[in-house]
Amino acid sequence: GQETAYRRASIAALPGGAFLEGRWETADRILEVRDPEDGVLLGTVCSSTPQDVRRAVAYVYRHLQEGEWTLRERREALDRAAVLLADQAGWFAEIIAAESSKTITEAEREVRRCIETLRLSAGASSELTGETLAFEDSIAGGNKIGWYNRKPVGIVAAITPFNDPLNLVAHKLGPALIGGNGVVLKPSGRTPLTGLAFIQLLLEAGVPAGRLAAVVSGPGVSEAIVTDPQVDLISFTGGPKTADRIAAAAGAKKILSELGGNNATIVCADADAEAAAEAIVSGAFGVAGQNCLSVQRVYVHISLFDDVLDKVVVGSRALRVGAKLDRSTDVGPLISEAEARRVEEWVEEAKALGATVHVGGQRRGAFYQPTVLTDVPADALVISEEVFGPVVSIMPFIQVSDAIRAANDSDYGLQAGVFTESIGLALAIAEKLHVGAVVINGTSDVRIDSMPFGGFKKSGVGREGVKHAVREMTEPKSTIIALA
Ligand code: NAD
Repeated sequence: GQETAYRRASIAALPGGAFLEGRWETADRILEVRDPEDGVLLGTVCSSTPQDVRRAVAYVYRHLQEGEWTLRERREALDRAAVLLADQAGWFAEIIAAESSKTITEAEREVRRCIETLRLSAGASSELTGETLAFEDSIAGGNKIGWYNRKPVGIVAAITPFNDPLNLVAHKLGPALIGGNGVVLKPSGRTPLTGLAFIQLLLEAGVPAGRLAAVVSGPGVSEAIVTDPQVDLISFTGGPKTADRIAAAAGAKKILSELGGNNATIVCADADAEAAAEAIVSGAFGVAGQNCLSVQRVYVHISLFDDVLDKVVVGSRALRVGAKLDRSTDVGPLISEAEARRVEEWVEEAKALGATVHVGGQRRGAFYQPTVLTDVPADALVISEEVFGPVVSIMPFIQVSDAIRAANDSDYGLQAGVFTESIGLALAIAEKLHVGAVVINGTSDVRIDSMPFGGFKKSGVGREGVKHAVREMTEPKSTIIALA
């Protein structure tokens, strides 16, 4: 009814094709975009082909050789993009909430984050400097002077997931563009509309058409991007299995990858149980757990175990699961019914292995109830693999060293949380956790867009966070002068 019309109105204003060779192109190969909540067809985009990828990359390559786009112009364009996004914030939030699994409130938050990411990208122009070289200090340096500064790697391919369809695109395109690169974007095939709308916004902001291309998922498209000889760097965010395929196909290209998490939170005996429980509920069930920073495993000192468990269960029960566009909804759907069924199967497996379900454990279509488990053995999938759904497992510990060992006993190492009133204990634990960031008196689910972001082990290679990504996407280039 009215809601569907409202969703369609936002979508109708979109380009509907890929951005190739400096213009929007349509074709008769159709990719349907459906609302994961109810399967309603939101719109269609034209899927791309490997030949489209080749043409798009070659065009950007030529433009990079010929087109001048100064650092000042880049900075100004990204600043304008931030202003334009602030003007169009409501429209972008509607597209995100329509095609992804985010509620409208979560989508609005993502747009606000993305405005910051664009401002930070403009500000990262200050990273594009270098230093003079100490020729005088070397036996090889006689009668020379020199310096280095930073140069773009060339063409950056951005391959992005469904769960933050706007801000994770900006985390790649912003740093790539300020660094002077050309960009080829392939947004998730489940959420292509937001990424394409973002390309349109960048063009309006003054990014030259020759610096940008966007292709849409289709047979062979990802492989064509990854293997294209004119692509210099692949910036990927998604799952570790996809990352393995990319690495196998990419050859000697530089690959930056932001992969999954299986994030632990440790609650010590002296912690504020109320604060910990509140943060765990929000960190485990925000975006229905489809967040790489989601809280999946919680280790609570045995003396606080019942108290924290009770509070988490009460908090979880109070969450409203429902329609994404309803502002009273706390937890929306998963990205597909198939994903909700997978989560259901993993919880059933945990139950068969002896787990107790305290709340949740039920599926309705693409929706899965926030679920709290205890008595889960370490080899259950909900402990050993990334759940990427609204399921949290709570385990007791006696010795802090056991909690640290259990937290580190994972293929992933993205972020972790520690709750304690003792700063000394917090720092001692933080030192021993093998993760990209430790949050003290908070959970893993904390990020600002300027911090170095990424993980150890299977959680990825390299760091995002705007200025860190700029460094990854540029390389030092030296100039040396022999004095007369
Ligand atoms: P995914 O790996 O299925 O897809 C990610 C992207 O890769 C999509 O654009 C997809 O079309 C593309 N792709 C698929 N096959 C490919 C191939 N063979 N070669 C190249 N590209 C290919 O991931 P998803 O389901 O969209 O997203 C969920 C995953 O992303 C989770 O594991 C989550 O933890 C991770 N993630 C990580 C971060 C982070 O910053 N660490 C942030 C968000 C999501």
